[in-house]
Formats: sequence, structure tokens, C-alpha cells
Amino acid sequence: MKKERREFLKKTGLLGLGGLINPTSVFSNSEQSSVDLQSKSFLIKNARILSMDLEIGDFTSGDVLVENGKISNVSNSIDAPPGVETINAEGGILIPGLIDCHWHLWTSLLRSMSGDSAEEGYFKMTARYSRLYDPEDMELAATYAIAEAIHSGITCISDYNHNARNRQFVKASFDAMAKMGIRGHVSYGTYRDMPGNEPTDFKGISELKKLIDSNSEYNGISLGLGSRSANYKNIEEDWKRARDLGLRITIHASSNQDQKGQIKSLFDRNLLGTDVNIIHGNAITPEEIKMLEETGASITMTPYSEMRIGYGLPKINELYESNINCCVGIDTTALTGNAHLLDSLKMLQNLANANAKDEFYLHPKEALKMATINGAKNLGIEKETGSITLGKSADLVLLKKNDLNFSTGNKAYHLAIEAALPENIDMVMAKGKILKYDGKLTGINTSNLINQAKNRFAEMEKEIN
Ligand SMILES: [Zn+2]
Repeated sequence: MKKERREFLKKTGLLGLGGLINPTSVFSNSEQSSVDLQSKSFLIKNARILSMDLEIGDFTSGDVLVENGKISNVSNSIDAPPGVETINAEGGILIPGLIDCHWHLWTSLLRSMSGDSAEEGYFKMTARYSRLYDPEDMELAATYAIAEAIHSGITCISDYNHNARNRQFVKASFDAMAKMGIRGHVSYGTYRDMPGNEPTDFKGISELKKLIDSNSEYNGISLGLGSRSANYKNIEEDWKRARDLGLRITIHASSNQDQKGQIKSLFDRNLLGTDVNIIHGNAITPEEIKMLEETGASITMTPYSEMRIGYGLPKINELYESNINCCVGIDTTALTGNAHLLDSLKMLQNLANANAKDEFYLHPKEALKMATINGAKNLGIEKETGSITLGKSADLVLLKKNDLNFSTGNKAYHLAIEAALPENIDMVMAKGKILKYDGKLTGINTSNLINQAKNRFAEMEKEIN
């Protein structure tokens, strides 16, 4: 089976460092498309545009010109320059590509496997399965997760790799992202059963950093440190070494009542800064909110995983009312079941309104910011992506209004957050390349990928029992 999987990965270009997948080269439905999906330039016509750019604003009906991977014009009406492929977006809603700020991609094979007893719970279950993975499994799992991400409109992922047994396990995330054509950030973490006294693998981190920096195939994907917990005795030394390498830092902190005070302990040691992404923070205190405001660290809520595992409710109202850069993430489909990031925004919006007892408290545009421009700021890439802005990368999502659940109504922000399902996403473009078109993924043979994921999971089931 392993060999078969390798053959599949080879055939689809998903194994080894064989260059970026051309998203259209294995497009199985190309005959159904009147648009040349391999074009370098596209004109998206007559879309309802939610730019998330204050100066550009929104368009009831407008056009976006994409040339050589960048957004080169946004206007009421643009005449198609020669050689440009026109995409008819009439009746559709165009938003920036979604940015997920926290995800453990490798757990995707373990979808909804967090069970019903202490032994079967998320942490013990993932620890057991994690030992069965090799770097190939890591790449398969990440590819499977990224395929679902693209289907759900996500064009950039911050992956926290905590099955980092050596650098090959982390490189697998880079390879999957590069070959699937998305942007990303990969935090080099630890692994589930790593002894507390084993030092952080800075040799592997440095080697991987050199490889990433010297290889243009990884453009648009950065390496970070997946920090150990705030209680780790050498955390100050680790963060200094990471910063010396120019790495951003991600840490799970103040996730639940047992971890209360962790953000303060990081602040007290002068560790927080704009390069820090705090994950969860369900137990954040008013004092700690001020600390994040003062230092410019971002926070990422993962509402479905936090609630499912019993961490409590996200502190959405307190965080929304602060000046903290608030972001959102899937975290793990072992807990969330799926990767519908727009639904996580809806959850935050509804929870915020419920807490405030106010129908008008959190506008869906504010929610959408968390998965677009705020996400870009979190990763330090706000000049490149996060809004439909001239000169930025063409990372775009087109929601087509022509489905049973997505046809009437004209309040675009509400529709995008409250009504849309991944199935309503007609087109996804990252770095100017079309990764989903006419509702189908263009870069891979989806049914083969699903079979490979299923087969490997079935094998693991046998190995574990
Ligand atoms: Zn996490």
C-alpha cells in the first residue's frame, strides 16, 4: 500500500521536490471550461466585490484584473486587454482569499477521531497515531488538509507542526503547500511524546531554514517556531534563538482555566512582540488583554476546537473591543470535523451578539477581517495579501450565488459569513493561479487523493489495534 501511495504521489507530482504543481495540468474537467485556466492573466467581470481595503471599498458590480499573479486593476468596468481570459462572475461575491492562522495539518487523517473516553480523547488519541506517521504520511495528510482548505476558500495556512520528529516531518508541510500552490507559514514544533528534557531541535530548524531560503519553490511559505508551553524552562533561550534566525513564534497559551496567567508570564519575561501569535487565550484576563495591546502580539481563536474540547467559550467580545489583532483558525479536524473557516467566523459573530444581547453588535465585515487582513498582519504579509488591493497577490475567492442555500438576498457580507457553504465557492485563486474552478479542485485528482487518505487511515487503524 505504501508503494502504491508513492506511485500515486509521483503520478500527480506530489512526491519529492519536483516543482510546483501546475494547477491546470491535471485538471480533469478542462473540457467543461470555456476559460483557459492556465492563462497568466484573468479579468473577473461583474462581481460583487468585498475588497477589505478601506480605500478601494466595495463594488455592487465591478471588475478585477489579474496579471502575472498580481491584482493590477479594480474598477467599475475594465475592458479586457488582449490575451486575458475573462471570467464571468455575474451574481457572485468576490472576497480576498481566506487566511487560516492556526492548524495542525498532519491530524487531518484523524478526522473526528477524538472519542468518548479519557483514552480516546484528542491528546491521547493523536499521540498514539502520531507514532505511526513517517514523512510521506505527513505530506499525504497535509495535502489532504490543504485540498479541503482550498475547497473552503482558504489560500494561506499557518500550520503548527507538532509531529516534528525531525526536519523531514516539517519539510513535508512545505512540500504539500508548495505543490498545492497556496501560501503558508509552518511552525516547527515538538512531537507528542517528546521528553521534557529533550532540547528543541534548532539544528533541524536551521537546516530547514537554509533549504527554504535557497529554494524558490518555497516562495510565499515561511518557517516559524512552534514554541513549547509557557512553563518550559528554556523558553527564553528558545525564543531568542528563533528570533536570531528571523522566525515568527506561535504558542498555545492561556487556553483554559488550568493555563490561566500564561500570557502574563510571557509578558513579564519581555517575550511578547508583533511577531508572536497567541493561540486560544480562552482564559485571557483583562490585564493580559492590555499586555497584548501594548506589545502588538496577535491572538488566534479556533472557536470550534476550543468549544469541542471544553476549553470554554472564546473571549470574542473582550478581544473584539480591544486593539488586539484578532484572527481565526481551524486548529484540527480531529476535533472540528471540517475546515469551513467562514463557519468559524459565523460562530464568533453569533457568540458575540449573544453575549452582547445585541443583534447589531458584530458586523460580518468585522468577522471577515479576522480571516483576511488581520490574518495577513498576524503573519507579517499584509503588504502581499489579505485584501483586494492593487499590487497585492491575486488571492481571491468567488462565491457563486446560484444554489438552493445561496440564491436570494443581497446583503453580501451576511451571505458570505452566514449562508455560504464550501460548495458555494465557485473559484479559488492563489498567487494568480486557479486552484478551484466551477466548484472543482483543479490541481489534483480529488478522488485519488481521498482514496489514498482513506487507505492510509485504514492501515493505521490496523497498526494501532
Ligand atoms: Zn493548536
